[in-house]
Amino acid sequence: MYRCLIAVRLALVAGIAGLGLTGSSVVSSQPHVLKLYVVPLRDQETDASGRPLHDFTATPAQFTQLVAEVNWVYEGTGIQFSFDPATAWQPLADTDMNSDRTLFQRGNEIAAQHLGMIVCFLRWGPNPSSRTGNGNAYPPLDAGPVPPAVDGVSQNYVALPDFFGANYSGLNQGNGSFAAHEFGHYLGLYHTFPGWTDRQGPVYASIPGASTPSRTQADQAAIDFIAANGRTVSALDGDALDDTAPDPSPVLYQAHSQNVCSSREITVQGRIEGVQVTFTLMPDPNNVMSYFAACPAGSVPALSRFTFQQMERMRGTLQKPSRNHLLQPAAQPICSQLRDQIGALEAQRAALSEAMKGAPPQVKGDIGRRISALLLQINALRQELRAHGCP
Ligand SMILES: [Zn+2]
Repeated sequence: MYRCLIAVRLALVAGIAGLGLTGSSVVSSQPHVLKLYVVPLRDQETDASGRPLHDFTATPAQFTQLVAEVNWVYEGTGIQFSFDPATAWQPLADTDMNSDRTLFQRGNEIAAQHLGMIVCFLRWGPNPSSRTGNGNAYPPLDAGPVPPAVDGVSQNYVALPDFFGANYSGLNQGNGSFAAHEFGHYLGLYHTFPGWTDRQGPVYASIPGASTPSRTQADQAAIDFIAANGRTVSALDGDALDDTAPDPSPVLYQAHSQNVCSSREITVQGRIEGVQVTFTLMPDPNNVMSYFAACPAGSVPALSRFTFQQMERMRGTLQKPSRNHLLQPAAQPICSQLRDQIGALEAQRAALSEAMKGAPPQVKGDIGRRISALLLQINALRQELRAHGCP
């Protein structure tokens, strides 16, 4: 299973001029407001005092604040999120889902029962001794071309941590940027670097171990990946969008001990078929879909952002069958649907009764038959109204 977390938010300094923040001027209509439906999970099993063995600690008030932060990241995109703590916070005791064991299957089932909303699960995670700090979400299969370094996954919900931690950890990683990143996946975006994760992803996984590689190892891994994927830095363009720069991920900066905020341009050196080569990259650390912490670093994380094409992709995804339920008006309750139908038929009946008054005898029979047919329909709908217990 792949993970998509904004990796450890390193302390980074200095400001950077970014790429392509041009979207706000092109969104003229009202933003789409997408409703969130939040399912905080807990274990079914309890301890001696009756408390669930693993329980969420996030509160509706904290989540409300998070949504405000996410909306700040989405400002200018044409998309905003809404959360009603009174109706859309629905805790569920389900140990398997809480530990990620059956989240995928049950998650999609529950999402299908709540069309019109983005279902978010807040879960403990797979390790019983510590909470996961990560989240995951995936572009729907109809969002657009799948970039070469990732596979298509049909996941119609967003998985998130179940806690708000100190120093912007857990749900408020990146001061909303982390949750914004997961919603970005849900709305059709891939990472700006290749793959679903960085150190264990397609560029660097061939380097043994899981720790930070040496500069030489990281450079050669990046060059091998470039050599195998077209021999230009575009190989490191993870999302196949033109206005997000090729991104070697924070792994390369860690291997170089280079601070992306103070020194954004990075050069890799190595060999392709024995020939010495160099490539220079300049990713945008402030892009929501990167794994960098936004610049400048500070006690409050800086705001990350989307490019124009990322905004277009998200708005386009909302028109696709997998996600357009989010734009539909809420389904009308059955009682008012039935009453509306009865009202329309009553109006037809009244019009026909009026027409009957001045009608020549030869058509009165025909009008009478139509009125009788309408009455039958109206009575059937009234029976249905009673059957549903409508007031
Ligand atoms: Zn991700």
